Amino acid sequence: MILILGGTAQARELAAGLDAGGLAVTSSLAGRVSSPRLPVGQVRIGGYGGPAGLARWLGDNAVAAVVDATHPFAERISENAVLACEQAAVPLLALTRPGWSQRPGDRWTWVNDLAAAAEAIPGLGRRVLLTTGRQGLASFATLTGTWFLIRCVDPPRPPLPPQHELILDRGPYTLDGELGLIDAHNIELVVTKDSGGAHTVAKLDAARERGLPVVIVRRPERPPVASVTTVAEALDWARAHAG
Ligand code: NAP
Repeated sequence: MILILGGTAQARELAAGLDAGGLAVTSSLAGRVSSPRLPVGQVRIGGYGGPAGLARWLGDNAVAAVVDATHPFAERISENAVLACEQAAVPLLALTRPGWSQRPGDRWTWVNDLAAAAEAIPGLGRRVLLTTGRQGLASFATLTGTWFLIRCVDPPRPPLPPQHELILDRGPYTLDGELGLIDAHNIELVVTKDSGGAHTVAKLDAARERGLPVVIVRRPERPPVASVTTVAEALDWARAHAG
């Protein structure tokens, strides 16, 4: 069986490809989102209790290979996967979509983390579209003079910035939709993580079109493991390691 550590569109595409090819696949989700988009095939929801728990699970379930297709900002599970696969002697591949890159007309400020993003905001705009996700919003809670349009999948927990409106939504988003949102709320600045991929890139196209600045959080370092960027490459690797 192939285990996919998931929670991304690429992970769902990979599960569909393996399932269509008749391979046994289990997708693993953290269980953060109240009604997740479920991949085809078997699904397991919830953590393993750290690397030792994951290593045990790999052995107990005769896992032939693991594909870590988690979000580029999900640091802990990727580190756990490296340790667990080493311990259980199971091959591991990381499937990570490329990050976004600047194009002519973009006005991006790259920062290392959410705290640095919060520091950059006051000089750049007073009305912010904030799409960094539900976790870590406390970093923005001290910005009393800034109004935020916070968009995430599930309601975030406090502390939150005092002036905000919440939109619960998930991609894919369109350029027209993002332009409409920016215009309706007089957005002056977009703050995002470098998640990469096509599903949520429209906000960056919309910011370029409206000449708005963007604060973009760099990806954390990934553990040094074999990695690919496309689902097709991951499919080939998984087929070769399916046992
Ligand atoms: P994280 O900080 O890397 O992981 C925290 C803990 O959650 C892990 O130690 C593990 O618990 C459990 N976990 C995480 N991903 C899991 C998975 N796919 N299957 C089973 N357990 C998992 O993760 P996160 O940043 O909270 O993200 C959680 C999930 O949401 C990820 O799977 C990721 O693909 C998805 N996601 C994250 C983001 C983001 O911006 N971080 C965005 C979109 C989707 P144990 O140690 O107990 O095993």
